Amino acid sequence: MSPQRLYIGLDVGGTSMKAGVVDDNGHAHSGISLPTEPHKGQQHGLDTMCAAIRQAAAEAGLTMADIVAVGVATPGTMDLKTGYILDPPNLKPWRDVPVRDYVRSQLHLPTAFQNDANAAAMGEYWAGAGRGYHSLVFFTLGTGIGGGIILNGAVLEGEHSHGGELGHVKIEMTNPRLCGCGKVGCLEAYASATQVVKRAREAMASHKSLLHDWPLTDGELSAKDVFDAADKGDALAEQIVDETAYYLALGASNVMHTIDPDAIVFGGGMIAAGEPFLERIRRHIPRVAFPVPAARTQIRFATLGSDAGFIGAAACARALVVK
Ligand SMILES: [Zn+2]
Repeated sequence: MSPQRLYIGLDVGGTSMKAGVVDDNGHAHSGISLPTEPHKGQQHGLDTMCAAIRQAAAEAGLTMADIVAVGVATPGTMDLKTGYILDPPNLKPWRDVPVRDYVRSQLHLPTAFQNDANAAAMGEYWAGAGRGYHSLVFFTLGTGIGGGIILNGAVLEGEHSHGGELGHVKIEMTNPRLCGCGKVGCLEAYASATQVVKRAREAMASHKSLLHDWPLTDGELSAKDVFDAADKGDALAEQIVDETAYYLALGASNVMHTIDPDAIVFGGGMIAAGEPFLERIRRHIPRVAFPVPAARTQIRFATLGSDAGFIGAAACARALVVK
């Protein structure tokens, strides 16, 4: 048996970046984290990316000569074809950063570049909740809602690098809520962790709830508090949680009717709410989706946690060299 090829994936976030060595089976051999410090400027950011990749190799007891290819995932906005981050809201003040070419020129290895949510989708498809499926749609539920679509092993990048922006599918156009993107009616404006809190606060203004006297986990109301209060039987919190599940079912049904995937996977901080929340989403889907996809599409939680991004970035690196 020939030795395993090894790749390094890097997932750059607004606060920190995570890198690891990953083998042909999607198993991680290391995982390191460095602060991104976007305020120090994009050259510092580019150098930190290269340092993180080298450190991931060292932590696995390897040198860069053992690595076949690298993959870098970053937040948008971006141009995947040219390998640039354009004007990223989470990495200010970076602008027009030639990520792919810079990393390739420093490390002298084939270098893939991908959107972070697309990379996380790829990670789950390759090595997590989507293992064995042909197609997968991934929603990350955090302060915002990210998305990624994998069809037959490839990321659906779209013609303008904007494929899979599932947080911004429209789910409500009557008195729609304003989204962080500046438009209205987006899934993210209803079902992100931030919006769960906002909707709970609005309901609390005119209704009784255990949340009025809740021992707050983080000093102020969080989505976790709302989910915990729902578990304790609080009617207001339960309604907010159930509506959130309904909104996510709407988002899921939109992609079911668009591409009819094997599986829809939810990841991100909010899945800490656990299996009962997933069951709620599953129960709402037959109300809004065609019967066959509603019955057959697998609805799952992600399994790789915050490793999905770098594992998926490594999968994109692998796709450069394994045809
Ligand atoms: Zn939006």
